[in-house]
Amino acid sequence: MDIAKNILLLKRSLPAHVRIVAVSKMQPVSALLEAYHAGQRMFGENKVQELIAKQSQLPSDVEWHFIGHLQRNKVRYLASFIAMIHSIDSLKLLHEVNMEAGKLNRVIDCLLQFHIASEETKFGMDMLEANLLLESKACLSMKNIKIAGVMGMSSFSDDADLVRSEFRNLYEIFQRLKLLHFQGQDTFQIVSMGMSGDYLLAIEEGSNMVRIGTAIFGDPNN
Ligand SMILES: *Cc1c(COP(=O)(O)O)cnc(C)c1O
Repeated sequence: MDIAKNILLLKRSLPAHVRIVAVSKMQPVSALLEAYHAGQRMFGENKVQELIAKQSQLPSDVEWHFIGHLQRNKVRYLASFIAMIHSIDSLKLLHEVNMEAGKLNRVIDCLLQFHIASEETKFGMDMLEANLLLESKACLSMKNIKIAGVMGMSSFSDDADLVRSEFRNLYEIFQRLKLLHFQGQDTFQIVSMGMSGDYLLAIEEGSNMVRIGTAIFGDPNN
């Protein structure tokens, strides 16, 4: 795998407004450094332990994104440095992030994760849960988190029409939430959707942040 070349080609092929999170889970530090030296600064990981270990070995201007399921009792390990958490799926988790960020005088960017796939196993909220969360007094009083947008994962499927409709659904959710809860504010602006196999579809449907692993680093299992 020529990581630097993959990043260059990817950047060239995407519209300028689409940000690339390089998903480096299960990749060795050497691979992340290669990406870093090719100019990549945003990295995504889905395990807390692994993220912490890598963070200590990479330059401090890396912007770390947490993209996996996050347990509340692990938030404190990330709070001092994490740039964005893509996987907020409950008020309790958001509360924990706000509390830990508050102790450090930080504001942590958070995305609300939605369940858009047809599979049962993927984490995330639905529109009703999100509306309840955003309307709650608890959420409105949180000073150390910024709700910056939404995130979702499509079904693991070759059916392009199905995947497209799921991305379209997430983009509609984003627009409705923006209208209902963030009118006149420009803080709610990120639509994190699209992975190696479906990022072109996702961008066509409104994604402005793609999370790409395999297409940059190769398959970690091979
Ligand atoms: C692994 C992972 C990705 C990247 O997947 P690839 O198919 O390797 O690009 C993106 N998002 C999440 C949440 C992931 O767990």
